[in-house]
Amino acid sequence: MSPSLQLRCPVCKARFRSEVICSRCGASLGRLMELALASFHLRERARASFDAGDPGAAAEFASRAQGLHRTEAGDRLERLARLLKPVQRPRARSNGAGSLTPGGAAFGFW
Ligand SMILES: [Zn+2]
Repeated sequence: MSPSLQLRCPVCKARFRSEVICSRCGASLGRLMELALASFHLRERARASFDAGDPGAAAEFASRAQGLHRTEAGDRLERLARLLKPVQRPRARSNGAGSLTPGGAAFGFW
């Protein structure tokens, strides 16, 4: 989806028409366009990271994109990336005897 399809003028809420000046109220939209475009490119990088099998990087790119310009599709992308991102498990404690069950499983994960 093009980044311009979801934008509205922050002043008068007119639909975005790919122009740097709002056709209804005359507000400058240049900076808004830059942020939306940067966000769009970050989402593209998130999708490419999925394709490359790196959901951790996808989650990072999707989160950065949402920080610049929040969209519903970006929210879905970010949530999916976070679900697929590998979990960073805490290290098993190495406090000597008693840290492992007789079967060898570490207590720290429960
Ligand atoms: Zn406007």
